Amino acid sequence: MPEQTPIPTHWYNIAADLPVPPPPHLHPGTREPVTPADLEALFASGLIEQEASTEQYIEIPEAVREVYKTWRPAPLIRAREFEKALGTPARIYVKYEGVSPVGSHKTNTAVAQAYYNAQDGVTKITTETGAGQWGSALSFACAKFGIDLEVWQVRASYESKPYRRFLMETYGGTVHPSPSTLTESGRKMLADDPETPGSLGMAVSEAVEVAASDPNARYALGSVLNHVVLHQTVIGLEAVEQLRAAGEENADVVFGCAGGGSNLAGLAFPFIREVLHGRANTRVMAVEPAACPSITKGEYRYDHGDVAGLTPLLKMHTLGQDFVPDPIHAGGLRYHGMAPLLSHTVDLGYVTGQAVDQTESFAAGVLFARAEGIVPAPESSHAIAACAEYARGLTEPEVLVIGLSGHGMLDLPAYHEFMQGNLVSTL
Ligand SMILES: *Cc1c(COP(=O)(O)O)cnc(C)c1O
Repeated sequence: MPEQTPIPTHWYNIAADLPVPPPPHLHPGTREPVTPADLEALFASGLIEQEASTEQYIEIPEAVREVYKTWRPAPLIRAREFEKALGTPARIYVKYEGVSPVGSHKTNTAVAQAYYNAQDGVTKITTETGAGQWGSALSFACAKFGIDLEVWQVRASYESKPYRRFLMETYGGTVHPSPSTLTESGRKMLADDPETPGSLGMAVSEAVEVAASDPNARYALGSVLNHVVLHQTVIGLEAVEQLRAAGEENADVVFGCAGGGSNLAGLAFPFIREVLHGRANTRVMAVEPAACPSITKGEYRYDHGDVAGLTPLLKMHTLGQDFVPDPIHAGGLRYHGMAPLLSHTVDLGYVTGQAVDQTESFAAGVLFARAEGIVPAPESSHAIAACAEYARGLTEPEVLVIGLSGHGMLDLPAYHEFMQGNLVSTL
């Protein structure tokens, strides 16, 4: 293991340590394992290499570490007041990613992806975004590396949640409501239904179409893929060291919310590394919304990452590429599938799924905000709720770690609705 300084020098690739290698991605046409050539039109070469890497540690480029310095290492906070509010003997630690410039963990991979694209001479990146967490992270990163960014944002969010759009534009990104008239797929969707509110699946199709037809452009994805998970391991690598510095040998349980699986995998994989090397017995809980329960109610099989079926087939826990979840407030958790690497660790027994209802999640978020002062992102509140329930049931002290993937300062209207009693249970 390389010596890690406060900001890690290497990302950790769990694929190198697992007793069974992860299943490969398959070409959507041939159903044979994808080759680097299959992915070249869409992704930067450095990222394609990482997607299939079996190296245990991959060096973080100096230019990426320089940008990480703006907010990393992210704090690990002992949540004493939250412990008191729960009346638990547990010692609860919170790894807080809301300190990044856009308020979530997504910058960890956005910066790396912009860097590898810049290395290849790419001048434009395209992507999709829902509420705008990913789009704003990538806008920030593209500004750092002088790359133009075009974002297709789900029309319903574009119109009803403008603040992250303004943030994307502040960093220089161009934002289009999706479906748009700018692409063939968008024009077709509008012809089918001129009033459509849009969906992530539609926005993916538009962003992919534009990247595939422009030799100087590439596409970027904010979760799910192996290279995204790899970049997010800075979270867990820091947390393992910070926990030791706080005088704790190991974590008993790690809780994280799981949408596409990247923040949880990023936090948990370095803890699972300790388990794989016989140094700990840490358990990991993947907490998902009851409205979109990929791990707890889905099937573990090959499925497409998008509605149109353009992406490679990924072996993952999935509710099916056509599954449309209820419009819960934790928009970042409304994805039908799960990161294949995380699904593989679930399958091998290192991670357990748990579903949490959104009202329970908001209640825990409010309790946490009143105790610790941080208003969690609605996504992160799912992890807090699961941890709270577990901690309340303990009679002996345990060390619990929560992944706080982002802050909820742009989600205050949702908190307001919850406090007015207007949020419905999705159970
Ligand atoms: C996007 C997002 C998530 C869900 O994505 P993962 O890939 O599962 O991490 C969770 N929390 C926040 C704050 C997000 O922005």
